[in-house]
Amino acid sequence: MSAACRWSAPAIVALACGLVAAGGLHAWAAPFTYKAAGDLKSGSGTGLKTSKNYLPGIRFPIEKAPAYLNSQVYMPGGMYGGGGGQCSSANYNYPWRDNYCEKRSWKMPLCPSGKGHQGQDMRPASCKDNTWWTVAAEAGTITSIGSYSVYLKGKSGTTHRYLHMQMSALAIKKGQKVSKGQKLGRVSNDFGGTSTTIHLHYDVQQYVSGVGTVFVSPYNGLVAAYKALIGQVPTCNASACAAKSKCAAWGACGGFSNACDETGTRKRTCTKWTCAGSKCSSSSKTESQGCKVDTDGKVLQGWGPWQACVGIAGPCDMNGQQGRQQVVCKAGKAAKQVDMRPCARKTEGQVVQDWGPWGPCTAAGNNCQGVHERTQKVCSAGEAVDKVQTEACPAACDTSAGSADGHGADVADTDDVEPVADSAADARRHPVADGISGGDVGADPMALQQVGAAPSAGCNGGGQPSSSWPLLLLTVLVMLALRRAGV
Ligand SMILES: [Zn+2]
Repeated sequence: MSAACRWSAPAIVALACGLVAAGGLHAWAAPFTYKAAGDLKSGSGTGLKTSKNYLPGIRFPIEKAPAYLNSQVYMPGGMYGGGGGQCSSANYNYPWRDNYCEKRSWKMPLCPSGKGHQGQDMRPASCKDNTWWTVAAEAGTITSIGSYSVYLKGKSGTTHRYLHMQMSALAIKKGQKVSKGQKLGRVSNDFGGTSTTIHLHYDVQQYVSGVGTVFVSPYNGLVAAYKALIGQVPTCNASACAAKSKCAAWGACGGFSNACDETGTRKRTCTKWTCAGSKCSSSSKTESQGCKVDTDGKVLQGWGPWQACVGIAGPCDMNGQQGRQQVVCKAGKAAKQVDMRPCARKTEGQVVQDWGPWGPCTAAGNNCQGVHERTQKVCSAGEAVDKVQTEACPAACDTSAGSADGHGADVADTDDVEPVADSAADARRHPVADGISGGDVGADPMALQQVGAAPSAGCNGGGQPSSSWPLLLLTVLVMLALRRAGV
């Protein structure tokens, strides 16, 4: 027995071995070892070799370690166990042995022989009856209680059976909901009137595709649960672990082909947490999906300066339109957007057409001093109007006193002695202009004749104010005329 106490620290060795001595424990502090699933004790049948854990995350069904999984038939105290009693140290020692599919007459579809033991037998920490608690392997409901059986229907769908507890002192009743790890009863040897060894028979039924609801191997699940119980591996709560999974917020929509493109892609990183063995570990991956943005109205190039005032009706028009433009996105493409507004310009007094030539010099009667005028077009209140300028000018006049008809010389006759005569003077005659009246006035020969026919006091008559240069010019002209006339 002392060989089992392998602690190196003297105090612990003493404590451990003391407990062993007091409680009849055997090698409880020994390192946990176990045979593989399907490795049954020689001669006890053919096990199911599998690495599948049908019971991930379960609570080991006996409250406290150590516990020992081995056969109740092919070990000491059993029918084929050879010598020794059920409390033999060989039964309370590692390594564990699977006894699922051990020789029995039960129909077992998953067992190599088609028949066998339905579950796993296990002994508690010591060979002491009605002492060690069993607990719920998972949360669920107690669905049935038989003469030596308790059925727990777990939330996972697995039906867990606990056999051979002390049925007179169960901690639960039929129909009761239990939580994972909740105490159910104590390990005993109840067997419906007869007795068996002190042990817990634990088996599980699950639906297996293509087979139906059958007893599956609990061995690997028990190994994992036991490791968790003794702290060899941290526990991994599958649902709590999975609950840590999350995705980061989607990133900005991007990957556009141009500034107005509305169809892009976005990405996010998702972290998935899962139990790997007994450890909750994560893996991340990037997801992407198409996304859309609205670029309508997005300004690519802001408003430019106002352009020149256009749309002007004429040279004097004061009201026009001016535009400016910006570039914005529209339906996924860049488009120009034009803004128009009225504009005004100053045209008042602006010369549209410069001064034309002076018109013919006209005078009343045989008056040697007349007037002529010229016109320009200027803008006034938005319209082009004539602006007339009038100026005194020397007019053709007949200075011969002996004229047969008493009238002044005919204009045509004096062409060659009329240096100031305008070549167009015979075509048009203008009334005396007031200097501001606009527009041509048609020639009025009659008026001219009447005026011309009026008695005249002389070339310098007419009472018109005159400057000195016309007088000088007239004097020269008179002298020339007289010489020509032979006077
Ligand atoms: Zn059994």
